[in-house]
Amino acid sequence: MLSDVISLDKQYYMNTFGDRLPVCFTHGEGMKLYSDSGDVYYDFLGGIAVNAIGHCHPKFTNALKAQIDRLVHTSSLYYIENQARLAKELVSATCADKVFFANSGAEANEGAIKLAKIYFHKKGMDKSEIISLDHSFHGRTLATVAATGQEHYQAPYRSILPKGFRQIQPNSFEAVERAISDKTAAIMIELIQGEAGVYPMDLEYAHKLRRLCDERDILLIIDEVQTGMGRCGALYAHQLYGIEPDIFTSAKALGGGVPIGAVCAKEKVAAGFEPGDHGTTFGGNPLATAAGLAVLDIIKSEGLAENAARMGNALKARLLGLKEKYPDMMTDVRGMGLLIGIEIVPDKAKAVFDGLFERKMLTSLCKGLTIRIAPALNITEQETELFVNALGDVLKGAADL
Ligand code: PLP
Repeated sequence: MLSDVISLDKQYYMNTFGDRLPVCFTHGEGMKLYSDSGDVYYDFLGGIAVNAIGHCHPKFTNALKAQIDRLVHTSSLYYIENQARLAKELVSATCADKVFFANSGAEANEGAIKLAKIYFHKKGMDKSEIISLDHSFHGRTLATVAATGQEHYQAPYRSILPKGFRQIQPNSFEAVERAISDKTAAIMIELIQGEAGVYPMDLEYAHKLRRLCDERDILLIIDEVQTGMGRCGALYAHQLYGIEPDIFTSAKALGGGVPIGAVCAKEKVAAGFEPGDHGTTFGGNPLATAAGLAVLDIIKSEGLAENAARMGNALKARLLGLKEKYPDMMTDVRGMGLLIGIEIVPDKAKAVFDGLFERKMLTSLCKGLTIRIAPALNITEQETELFVNALGDVLKGAADL
């Protein structure tokens, strides 16, 4: 029972998540999650952009079951077939030449930061600064917190955060030009700042950054932890922007819920890592990479990036319709593909989020202002309609308050 789970959680689990939403799910299918009290929820958050293929896709669960029956873990002391095959798939589908697997987004970003640093170190260059953006989110390890441009994540750990990180205003080319120096190793960005409330970077800014990095011998790292795996309408968002990063990272949807992260890099940069320079126990083990192979196969064979683009455009158009109808409530609709932020006026945003939850629609509320959705990429038009209708209802109710 939910109340039992809550009391166990309160007694034994560290209180990093505070009071969670009062529900506990037992199983799922596609866009639906079933609670232990028999309620059906629509998962418009997709486990925070993890469940790109929906819950319990049969091809995915069968692939995992088969792998579990054969082998879960060996170690990186031996060759791992799934690891090599998944690396090849990622390389074939992107501008990367080499891949390293970690266990999470933060760990992939940590690997990317280390790779950038060691790449210049091996060239005999003392480049030791990483520039990232205000409002960014790159993870919870110390280096990724140092790269995350949000004061409240950094403040408690300030004295032990690694040096060499600084943040600048996003979408300002002048800010980048002012910030770079001969010490700059890398510029690290998200093309859409998800945790901040779904803020896409300007296309021109992204292209200028790429050019500047080339001119000044700086590596461009793109954090695709949230935007990757078809979410924005292409396998990776940088493909939609038409730029090639030197390093990009992937995680979240890559394993469809099985923890895995990836550092993907161009050959010359990847060569910075030599034996012993980096490592992992679990990263890219047979189970995690079986999950990655299954997710990639489903995304490709079912055209899910294309579906994300189609459904995302249709959904955004309907949401813009709601914005016109409720201009005093909804102030913006942002995003690409199926990563969408719906900005609500500050004094109503929490009520709208709660209203959606009461109607069994799962979303997240970013910065107390923006309802973020990241549903399964195989969502149907009827399922998008359910969300639009629920939001319309909630806005109507909240407008009458
Ligand atoms: N980078 C981005 C852009 C993210 O959105 C997140 C998580 O939300 C991370 C990194 C951290 O990923 P993880 O929680 O898997 O460590």
